[in-house]
Amino acid sequence: MGQARGDQPTGPTSWQIGPDSARIDALEGAVIDRTDPILEQISREDLKAIYLDGLAAIAAAADLAELAEVRVRFLGRKAPLVQLLRSLGELPVEERPEVGRVGNLVRRTLEAKADARERELESWKLAQTLEHDRIDVTLPGRYSPLGRLHLITQTRREIEDIFIGMGYEIADGPQVETEYYNFEALNTPADHPARSLHDTFFVSEGILLRTHTSPMQVRYMEKHRPPVHIIVPGAAYRRDSDATHTPMFHQVEGLVVDEGITLADLKGTLETFARAMFGADRRVRLRPHFFPFTEPSVEVDVSCMICDGAGCRLCKQTGWLEILGAGMVDPNVFGFVDYDPELYTGFAFGMGIERIAMLKHRVNDLRLFFENDLRFLRQF
Ligand SMILES: [Zn+2]
Repeated sequence: MGQARGDQPTGPTSWQIGPDSARIDALEGAVIDRTDPILEQISREDLKAIYLDGLAAIAAAADLAELAEVRVRFLGRKAPLVQLLRSLGELPVEERPEVGRVGNLVRRTLEAKADARERELESWKLAQTLEHDRIDVTLPGRYSPLGRLHLITQTRREIEDIFIGMGYEIADGPQVETEYYNFEALNTPADHPARSLHDTFFVSEGILLRTHTSPMQVRYMEKHRPPVHIIVPGAAYRRDSDATHTPMFHQVEGLVVDEGITLADLKGTLETFARAMFGADRRVRLRPHFFPFTEPSVEVDVSCMICDGAGCRLCKQTGWLEILGAGMVDPNVFGFVDYDPELYTGFAFGMGIERIAMLKHRVNDLRLFFENDLRFLRQF
């Protein structure tokens, strides 16, 4: 778009610069209006030319950038008009008052016209933007499928919430673990028969994928003094694969150590958990069992939430469902972390998150959790 000047074509149709009739009107007014009262006051030809050229250029500015250039050209520091006003002192004395008065009048008028043109261009630009960015509200929206948390994650968070409510902290440990933390420090030396229950993925000599979340018991106690109240949720790995075993599964380890902790604390804690998880009427029973790192050890059953103990298919007619293993921390384990076993006692438990989710939501095959079949996952 070239700069429009007063001595260029004057017919409105020759100013083809877009759908801006206001601008064409302004041009006509600027160039043709010989009755402009300001014009009558200007006697100097150079001022008259500046005034008319300025009006035309302002009116012809097609956008804000062009208008800014016009401002510099007619009103900037180096503009002829401004130079003239600055050098008043060099003019003959009799010319000074008129040039000063009329020159300033021209400057103020051009400034006002430029401001008005600026507002006009701004509103035109806004109108164009609005038109361009208009949203067709009648178009149907694009479907974006809503995600959800996997049932294992939901269950893990539910378990965490229950234990946080009882004042526990959540601890996190490495899934690639040393043999020392996974077995030895948990009172399970290399020749211990319990190791054969943990078919293990070895990464290299002495390094393995943890077979349970229990290594974190030792790692945590090494760094903290009693009292200890933690749960450790996370993945564990064993070389099993059938309807009730998968090579990767999730556990929540629990550990409490303080002075005077007894089996009754363990039972009360697990009863509170079972009722929060499975319903207020649940009862808990402990059966003697063996784990290398707890003594005594128990398996913990919760009364069946379907038949309430009467016997049904879910509980295989026993009225009870096994939910986890637990026990009092073996004093030998305290020896590995330099806790005084004469002063401190503690309990530990470990539950499978999949098992809890299966019982709560009556899922009958563990493998469903890992197949990523949306028909299954959408149900929770
Ligand atoms: Zn039952």
